[in-house]
Amino acid sequence: MILPWDKITADLSNLEIIIDPIQLTKLSLDYYHFSPILYEKLKDKRGNLVVRPTNEDEIIQIAQTCLNYKIPLTVRGAGTGNYGQCIPLEGGIILDTTKMSQIPWIEPGLACVEPGVKMAAFDKKAREIGWELRMAPSTYRIATIGGFIGGGSMGMGSITYGQLRDRGNVQALRIVTLEEEPCIIELRGDEVQKVNHAYGTNGIITQLELPLAPAYPWAEIIVVFDEFMTAARFGQALGDSDGMVKKLITVHAAPICPYLTGLNDYLPLGKHCALLMVSEYDLDAFHELVSEYQGEITYLKTAQEASKGTSLLEFTWNHTTLHARSVDPTLTYLQTFYFTLEKVEHFYHYFGDEVMIHLEFIKVNGKTIPAGLQLIKFTTEERLNEIIKYHEEQGAGIANPHTYILEDGGRKIIDFAQLNFKKQVDPYGLMNPGKMAAWGKE
Ligand code: FAD
Repeated sequence: MILPWDKITADLSNLEIIIDPIQLTKLSLDYYHFSPILYEKLKDKRGNLVVRPTNEDEIIQIAQTCLNYKIPLTVRGAGTGNYGQCIPLEGGIILDTTKMSQIPWIEPGLACVEPGVKMAAFDKKAREIGWELRMAPSTYRIATIGGFIGGGSMGMGSITYGQLRDRGNVQALRIVTLEEEPCIIELRGDEVQKVNHAYGTNGIITQLELPLAPAYPWAEIIVVFDEFMTAARFGQALGDSDGMVKKLITVHAAPICPYLTGLNDYLPLGKHCALLMVSEYDLDAFHELVSEYQGEITYLKTAQEASKGTSLLEFTWNHTTLHARSVDPTLTYLQTFYFTLEKVEHFYHYFGDEVMIHLEFIKVNGKTIPAGLQLIKFTTEERLNEIIKYHEEQGAGIANPHTYILEDGGRKIIDFAQLNFKKQVDPYGLMNPGKMAAWGKE
């Protein structure tokens, strides 16, 4: 359908609009290129215009305009997603939330924010009263809170607080709908799951209430080991040590370390490493654990020192993939729930250097488990699928980062709560069309 873009632009002329082709390209894409499969499918996708609202009334105006002309609408935060979550498959309007960056209130343990607030900026404010976000991705400095809820899943802090989808980690969401007349709906408690990690397919989040965590002074530490499985067991033991407060437990197999060029001085060749954030108050106990596993500390910064340079966080989670790909752009990655160290050991030996193991320890149902963002030496799509299939056959869970389809990436089930909610709040299927596979298939 040919849309009257001149009229549409005129209808939105009181708002900040971007139509410059270079900007439009930039604001149509995300970090989908980590996947060679997604790269081919998404590289040419573009929106027709970007609009940057500053408040909820403007969002309602944009929603109404999309309804009037039946225009696809794709919401975008900082555009750091890895699966093309905010890439418009069918063109249309891109709603950029980065100017929605007010923090209405922060109380001990709970805060209310607009979606475009950047996570690191939020924490800076919250720490003034001794609190911080429970969890955040390694894109912490630039990613928005709305984008994390819309498209992210876990990150630093998940060793204590689990995943975003765990009950309690998002307390309330306020959304604008794309019903015939756009409405505002507030979702609380379990209701938030209707919109949590829905890729912006069923409502524009305009406000969020998030629970907070006590802000500790986080020491940043690198420990190196001769044996990979000793490093992995150390990570598990630290995760299981309830007496030590920690925020990040990352383990990289030796072949990954040379890709982390900013840390070369601390990562002796051939050694396996753990990158960690541990409360300064627990460092005595931590040193004892390191001795027990015969690790060697090559880097230790107090929270004060760590706040001055690049955080170790930016060598963990998917930043590891970012660094590795800047050295070798043919590399890609997988996201895996290994569940046990036995499985980690099996895959470590089975695949050798074709699959370089990067572990992130997280809490799942009260237990510490190893998850992974392994680096893959990509050859063909068929081989990638074989690697995925083998992991699944052995009982590991793969959250496939090589698909933009909501259902195929994570739990591989239709989320009927999200689908039914979409029927209510987006009856014309205008929001991020093509991402929710179940939509329109009944
Ligand atoms: P965007 O990419 O802009 O959007 C993500 C999704 O949310 C889109 O589907 C969008 O439509 C939707 N959305 C955005 N705002 C709204 C809104 N207001 N209402 C409704 N829907 C909305 N992710 C992790 O979970 N953990 C990590 O540790 C992690 N590390 C990363 C490291 C690198 C180097 C990169 C490139 C990515 C990483 N990611 C990680 C993915 C991504 O950075 C995070 O999920 C981030 O929180 C996304 O925020 P964003 O503002 O960039 O969202």
